[in-house]
Amino acid sequence: MGIEDKIPSGILLTTFEGIFGWVRKASFWPATMGLACCAIEMMAFGTPRYDAGRWGQEVFRASPRQADLMIVSGRVSQKMAPVIRQVYDQMPNPKWVISMGACASSGGMFNNYAIVQGCDHFLPVDMYIPGCPPRPDMLIEGMFKLREKVQKYPMGANMVRHVEDTEQAALAA
Ligand code: SF4
Repeated sequence: MGIEDKIPSGILLTTFEGIFGWVRKASFWPATMGLACCAIEMMAFGTPRYDAGRWGQEVFRASPRQADLMIVSGRVSQKMAPVIRQVYDQMPNPKWVISMGACASSGGMFNNYAIVQGCDHFLPVDMYIPGCPPRPDMLIEGMFKLREKVQKYPMGANMVRHVEDTEQAALAA
């Protein structure tokens, strides 16, 4: 007979991992970082009109040490890529990345030598948001999709990501 058979009905069982995921997903602290026109929509996302604070995800942090989410909002120049990677490396685990807009995800209309053709060349991206620019509503939708992912994220998975990150950094160097 398992423990589930011994306890009265109506008692909800969960795992520590489940509670941890539930807490993590409801308190994103994005790093303050805008790269181009998409960043204007990202800023609107935090204003009273869209009110991202309703879901605990509007607390933009000026220090990467206090942030757990990077929103890459805009095209990434070759010169800016190492800086973005450094900011990402300074963020403590667990951390996530949203690629916001066509430029951040694929270079967009800037198919030239100066622009990185997608920030996933040097960052582990968790969520891609299409559009040029995506509206703040789409960023909210992307955040909610990311929340679902974070809820299911195994607690030990960040170490695995760290190894992958290091390999990506070595490739980008
Ligand atoms: Fe600007 Fe469009 Fe590129 Fe966003 S996707 S940075 S709005 S050109």
